[in-house]
Amino acid sequence: MTTKRQRIRNGLILVSFFLFPVFFYYLSPALVIMASGEGTINGSLVIFFLLFISALVVGRGFCGWLCPAAGCQEALFLAQDKRVKRGNILKWLIWVPWLSAIIYLTIKTGGYKKIDFFYQTHYGLSIYDLQSFITYNLILFILIVIPGLVFGKRSFCHHLCWMAPFMIIGRSIRNVFGYPSLQLRAASEQCIHCHTCTDHCPMSLEVEEMVEREKMENQECILCGRCVDGCPNDAITYRMR
Ligand code: SF4
Ligand code: SF4
Repeated sequence: MTTKRQRIRNGLILVSFFLFPVFFYYLSPALVIMASGEGTINGSLVIFFLLFISALVVGRGFCGWLCPAAGCQEALFLAQDKRVKRGNILKWLIWVPWLSAIIYLTIKTGGYKKIDFFYQTHYGLSIYDLQSFITYNLILFILIVIPGLVFGKRSFCHHLCWMAPFMIIGRSIRNVFGYPSLQLRAASEQCIHCHTCTDHCPMSLEVEEMVEREKMENQECILCGRCVDGCPNDAITYRMR
């Protein structure tokens, strides 16, 4: 049974996906490089920074509750719900050279000189003509749809996402200092080993094992709460501690 909380989450990520053509450029890894080469802080650089800040408190909650790529990927579960077991390192192999290029270009141009949040958009819209529409759909299929269908559930999040590392680093900083933040709590004595949480996890985590060890922190956890809402014996809960 889908709980009210999960219906709300499904609605949020679907609406976010339908609005993706509007916000596409604000999450672009390419435009941030172009803008940095011109000494400009663009919309995506601002958004990436805000994602890092948000992760200091809510971890990868953005991935679970708001990301436009989430709506598309979870809709694909209807066609392909294979679990993804390996490959999380790949996104770091992409992210490190990408971030290095941004830093290099920023230094080369003498630092940022202006902010243009709507850089390369048309009155704030990302997709506004045939060329941008074709580019958008090509990127959507190559980076999100095809990996999801070939490699399994939320393959883009595991293997390719350039935003996830910002949030993983933010979450790691929180874990070092241990201040209150949104997290999961497990009560292993309440677990009846039905395997539902592991089956439901959109990030293919071994949730039942995490519950058994009462160690729910995982850098791939997107705090979506599907394990919380699916558990028949309330062995997993959200907490702010
Ligand atoms: S859904 Fe709950 S009871 Fe079932 S395996 Fe997971 S934690 Fe245990
Ligand atoms: S462990 Fe639970 S909250 Fe984390 S991604 Fe899996 S289902 Fe979502």
